[in-house]
Amino acid sequence: MPELLIKNGLLADADGERRGDLLLKGGRIVRAGGRISARGAEVFDAAGLWVFPGFIDAHVHAREPGFEQAETIASAAAAAAAGGVTSILLMPNTSPAMDSPRLLRKYAPGAAAAPGNVVFSAAATAGRAGSRATDFAALKKAGAKALTDDGSALPYGLLPELIKKAAAAGLPLLDHPEDLSVTGRGVCHPDAAARLRLPGIPDISEWLAVLRDTLAASAAGPLHLQHLSLAASVEVLRQAKAAGWPVTGETCPHYFALSQADIRRDDADLKMKPPLRAEKDRRAVLAALADGTLDIIATDHAPHSAAAKAGGFGRGPFGVIGLETLAPLCVTELVLKKVVSLPRLAALLSANPARLLGLRRKGRLRPGFDADIAVLNPRAWRRVPAQFVSKSANSPFVGRALRGWPALTVVAGRIAARA
Ligand SMILES: [Zn+2]
Repeated sequence: MPELLIKNGLLADADGERRGDLLLKGGRIVRAGGRISARGAEVFDAAGLWVFPGFIDAHVHAREPGFEQAETIASAAAAAAAGGVTSILLMPNTSPAMDSPRLLRKYAPGAAAAPGNVVFSAAATAGRAGSRATDFAALKKAGAKALTDDGSALPYGLLPELIKKAAAAGLPLLDHPEDLSVTGRGVCHPDAAARLRLPGIPDISEWLAVLRDTLAASAAGPLHLQHLSLAASVEVLRQAKAAGWPVTGETCPHYFALSQADIRRDDADLKMKPPLRAEKDRRAVLAALADGTLDIIATDHAPHSAAAKAGGFGRGPFGVIGLETLAPLCVTELVLKKVVSLPRLAALLSANPARLLGLRRKGRLRPGFDADIAVLNPRAWRRVPAQFVSKSANSPFVGRALRGWPALTVVAGRIAARA
């Protein structure tokens, strides 16, 4: 396999940042830092650019099987590569739900052929129906890297059992915290809903689920809370961590880059679950990213066709795409506004998701680690285009001016995308 030498970049991972070169060979990082020369290697000049371990997105909906008109495993992986994301964890709310070793094995070849590392989560309950646990050990043996009923909350009555079984199987359990009895027919934040004359989603839909699921974890074992969006939720997470409870949390770019005030018309490209919250919630999410309360930024990339989204807030489906705007949103809203340092961003996007998912050779720029690299250009300034590599275009950020676009994405030592 050819060598790739990335020269003169600012190398940033969770351990720190330093100027230097990076040599990749045989799918691994061979040397990191200092001046490196390698005769015959392909050279990429990263002067003025930031070189990160490839981003690991722990929350992606690839829509295959069942909704291939919106996205496929291959198109999601291509969108990821375009965004500097070298590993994606797929959610199991496909049709049928990814709840058996047979289904995992059926879709493994497509994942292996995709232009990036594609790993699966499996449903924690049969059919994601919330009544019976799946066979966690068998799912792990078939390749599952996590368990979740994402799209639906884990059933509270079963939660202690699910937490204990997941810990015994050595798999992370990911929870979509929502109380559907509170959400009801709500479509967005109550203030925006009032403007649209539609039913709202009260904050306690998430808050209540975060509280009770965190309490369950305090007694039973590790639990990862997905897509936290509320000041109240990150405060629960902060206190749980202070108490030493084994709870981790993620948020998504739309929760730190947008608020419900951005919903100015009936545009379902701003409709997702949980919904955009109040400005105070956005600020609390930023604070929790800065102080380490939140562990992970994931996209919750949720493609939907334009025809489906044409139903507006009333009838359109929940979810927005995010793989191709992740990096510039993090650079523009977090780094350039001095919310987080480059090493902290590398922890949020690479080291922490690698740890959560047990990807031992990923997440750092160290010799012996996988040669998955994301190079960003902090000076690259452009508006989010209306066209995406993703098969879907339901982004709330189209037209927004952002800095920090990917210049180069490397997966296993090979160039997967180049600006
Ligand atoms: Zn979810």
